[in-house]
Amino acid sequence: MNLRSYKTVKERREALEKEAGVLFPNIGNFTLDESTASTRNCENMIGAAQVPMGVAGPLTIHHSSFGIQNYYIPLATTEGALVASVSRGCKAITESGGAVVDSHRVGATRGPVFRVNNLKQHDQIYRYLMTNLDELKRVAEATSDHLKLKKLLTRGVGHYRYVRFVFDTADAMGMNMATIATQALVTFIEKKFDVSCISVAGNFDIDKKPSWLNAIENRGMKAWAEVTIPSSVLKTVLKTTARSVYEVWLAKCMIGSALSGSLGFNAQYANIIAATFAATGQDLGHVAEGAVGITVAEIVNEEDLYMSVTLPDLMVGTVGGGTGLGTQKEALTLLGVAGGNDGKNAQKFAEIIAGAVLAGEISLLASLSEGSLATAHERLGRGREIKK
Ligand code: NAP
Repeated sequence: MNLRSYKTVKERREALEKEAGVLFPNIGNFTLDESTASTRNCENMIGAAQVPMGVAGPLTIHHSSFGIQNYYIPLATTEGALVASVSRGCKAITESGGAVVDSHRVGATRGPVFRVNNLKQHDQIYRYLMTNLDELKRVAEATSDHLKLKKLLTRGVGHYRYVRFVFDTADAMGMNMATIATQALVTFIEKKFDVSCISVAGNFDIDKKPSWLNAIENRGMKAWAEVTIPSSVLKTVLKTTARSVYEVWLAKCMIGSALSGSLGFNAQYANIIAATFAATGQDLGHVAEGAVGITVAEIVNEEDLYMSVTLPDLMVGTVGGGTGLGTQKEALTLLGVAGGNDGKNAQKFAEIIAGAVLAGEISLLASLSEGSLATAHERLGRGREIKK
């Protein structure tokens, strides 16, 4: 069958049902705006994959520039126990006075690769790129009302010259905007130096892969969250002690991660990133990057626990991509960050995610420290009563 020949989602789904001999009553039952979703978000659309959505919270967050706020965090997941776990972390944070968060707008990157003739041409292009940012900005910024070229990084290897362009894309995650602007830059550079671009995306970006370059240079938003949990909250909410959590953190997040060559020195960033991204219409391919980051635990005041998370590579937006779809927009509205105009919503959203990631780290490390991880999953994920 020619999937593209069908005019509506229903016609395509019914044709597929007939050909495959399978009925899709659930896939076909959805409320998303079909005309937008099938033209902007998903080709050959036959319906929607429904993922249950829960909320964790309330979570008190002290923003760097947006005051103190309480949030219910939307999490779309099929992993029983995840929402309960994050909610428990939120409770511990909120009863400790709230998480302090901060963020830095790094920017979306696109990294084309050019084929150059020799070292002399490498040098010419390198010198030009290093001294003509204003001209390149004019070329890039003519493609959008919301994009700014902030800086670039370039490297040459053999006949290949890589350029990592970094764009501020306001409230959008920005990969379409960055790619359109990079295409204009590529055309300009090709003409100026009589070189050819092998690929507008040469993995020097580096998009949708966990990498040290992004961890060091950062990508999208960089966000931090921290909290000090008093021993009383550790005892009542998390049923543990600072020393027990610290020991798990050291053995697992530090030594275990180093032993395994992990790029993420954390407990479960991917879980919270994936669930918040699915709920709010982010690009799920970017979970691969968002999962990189370092959690730090310290015992302070003899028996309290300081914990922090650092997320160097958070590709998020509140405008564009999947953020305008009905359910996703409602989830962003719950957080008070739907839409935007000056980039502040996207930044606030990144800080909320950092707070939620901190909650996930606290809860999982606490659970491991007092040995309840398996029983919680058995009870919540499998619906079984656990005998004490
Ligand atoms: P987009 O929806 O393609 O572009 C954002 C649009 O919103 C632009 O037209 C922009 O205006 C406009 N806009 C209005 N108000 C804005 C504001 N306050 N801040 C920023 N923009 C504003 O979204 P995108 O974030 O660039 O791209 C996201 C999509 O790219 C996702 O669907 C993702 O899956 C996909 N993606 C693409 C690539 C790629 O290589 N192309 C790679 C990875 C992911 P202007 O017209 O003035 O720019």
